[in-house]
Amino acid sequence: MNDKGKELYEVVNNKICLLNEKDTLENKFGRFWKIACNLKSRQHDLRYNYADSSREFVEKYKDRLVNLRDEFVNNMEYYVEKCIKVMRETNNMRVYYAKTNEEAQEIFLKELGDNKVIYKSKSVEAKDIGIIDVLKKNKIKIKETDLGDVLVQLFDYILPSFQVGPGAHFTVDEIVAKIKEVHGVELEQKASAIVDYYRKTYRRELLNDVKVSLTSANAISAEDGTIVLGENEGNISLLTRATEKHIVVCGITKIVPTILDAVLVAKLQTRINNVSFNYISLISGPSNTSDIQGQSVIGMYGAKEVVVILVDDWRMKALKENLLYKEFLKCIGCRTCNYVCTASRAFGNIYASKYGLGATAIIRDYIHNGIEAAVKDGLFLCTGCENCYHWCPISINLGEIMKSIKKEATSMGLCPPPLKEYQQKILKEKNPFK
Ligand code: SF4
Ligand code: SF4
Repeated sequence: MNDKGKELYEVVNNKICLLNEKDTLENKFGRFWKIACNLKSRQHDLRYNYADSSREFVEKYKDRLVNLRDEFVNNMEYYVEKCIKVMRETNNMRVYYAKTNEEAQEIFLKELGDNKVIYKSKSVEAKDIGIIDVLKKNKIKIKETDLGDVLVQLFDYILPSFQVGPGAHFTVDEIVAKIKEVHGVELEQKASAIVDYYRKTYRRELLNDVKVSLTSANAISAEDGTIVLGENEGNISLLTRATEKHIVVCGITKIVPTILDAVLVAKLQTRINNVSFNYISLISGPSNTSDIQGQSVIGMYGAKEVVVILVDDWRMKALKENLLYKEFLKCIGCRTCNYVCTASRAFGNIYASKYGLGATAIIRDYIHNGIEAAVKDGLFLCTGCENCYHWCPISINLGEIMKSIKKEATSMGLCPPPLKEYQQKILKEKNPFK
């Protein structure tokens, strides 16, 4: 291994030390994350909200899901074109196909115009595409609306947080104290008091002040250009209706062949996490009415404009050049792999990148920022156990992808020193532990 490899190893090692120190944020989050992982993976086999367990639900629909992802990935160009055509010609949406993340960012800023505030929800994709960084750089105020994200923002985005319940690691006392510090409001030490506070203050704002809103999508149907968005809180429903302009930014891999496929994907994402979507929005265009002599007029009560920015960036290239992460194109972002991951359970937010937690975030890091970034964020913490593969509803072998990236890193001299020692022991003693 070379000096760069040693330097990156030190960075990871220092982060692990923080995890072991008492009462650091890393330590607190790490402990919370381990409990969350254990609970979540146990829930997969329990009848929690429904008569069947989420594992049974997945088994029931697995073949259909695998087929629909195969069908899309094998005919990606066809489905992307079909989806764009129907959205533009039938659904009155303004649709862009951005070849790169940078192109998507430019389009987004143009669509934002003079607006200096944006209300958003479901931001993982927007983060992935770099929209959030661009907003911050251009001093555009981001208003989070999902309560978990509101809390993460309240605490200044201190740590990468886990995607289902991003603020769940903050205690009630911590939140109440922070609200007092930031907003000067004294609340009772109860979750319901916190929810009530945001309901009273934020709901009015969401109904009256939103000019531009930003969301991603759970899935988009190529058949009729319908965007599927699931949620619990009602913020997405308010945001996408009460706004003047609703901008959807997501990767082209959110597209699925039919509307039933899109609903199935959304349902699977929620069932597998043992949460419920109390609301599912199916958005097929801006608000309109034909109530005056049958003339169709756009912009009644809901959004006047629906803008969709579909981002390619690495996706077509991965398919055409058969890149090592090609299988990742089939991912539906359900996060099951995070909960069952040995490395995630052991290292929490140390095994993470700015794209989130776990192997999916490390692979994204590798795609967008290269091999050194992936090593620095914990590539070699992956044990290769392949739990992710066995639990993934589409059987994507993240462990195998990670192995290929590790191989590449090793050939560049970036392998951590202890692994080199193991290699020597195996070669000499035929036993890594001697
Ligand atoms: S193979 Fe790696 S990414 Fe997959 S579950 Fe095991 S440790 Fe996690
Ligand atoms: S790779 Fe992970 S997030 Fe993607 S579909 Fe499989 S389990 Fe879900």
